[in-house]
Amino acid sequence: MLNLILFGPPGSGKGTQAAKLIEKYNLLHISTGDLFRAEISNGTALGLEAKSFIDKGALVPDSVTVNMLKSKMEQHPTVQGVIFDGFPRTIPQAEALDEMLKSKGTEVSLLLSLLVDDSEIISRIVKRGASSGRTDDTDPEIIQNRINTYKSQTTPVADYYSKFGKTKTVEGVGSVDEIFESLCAEIDAVLVK
Ligand code: AMP
Repeated sequence: MLNLILFGPPGSGKGTQAAKLIEKYNLLHISTGDLFRAEISNGTALGLEAKSFIDKGALVPDSVTVNMLKSKMEQHPTVQGVIFDGFPRTIPQAEALDEMLKSKGTEVSLLLSLLVDDSEIISRIVKRGASSGRTDDTDPEIIQNRINTYKSQTTPVADYYSKFGKTKTVEGVGSVDEIFESLCAEIDAVLVK
């Protein structure tokens, strides 16, 4: 299995690139943010719980997030590989993912980290919020909380996988196609190994 973690701050283009990568490599796209938004729009208990954290720009608790991810994986037992988008966002989530993949006889192939600086991120999120209507993309305080949360809780995940030689950093500013080519070069290097 090819198991990719698409990593980077909010607004770094993970969703855009994931959509292109799943086509090329025939992978299942799992975005925990998208899964939470679907739960919220379906009015489920999980959605209601998640909303209280998302609305503050905070992370949804690990146990809730990991269980949701596990049940999504169980719905697709025969996939060739997965792109994890917006997951794992904490060290305990990374450990849970490793354990889950190990039980399937596989592992994380690569963490691809998109590098985009803060000012670029903020302007992209505000632009996205104007059309998506996502409240966590429009309120400056929530946006700042999301960036702070990323720095304090999520960046250690890239360091965690770098200990296993699995983290690769890719420039996240440029055209969508240029960034896509850089990501593909890193993935192809893993596939020929
Ligand atoms: P995203 O669409 O990936 O930016 O996620 C939107 C929001 O959903 C985040 O700001 C978090 O509140 C929540 N969320 C998404 N993925 C996770 C995760 N892996 N762990 C905890 N919270 C998450």
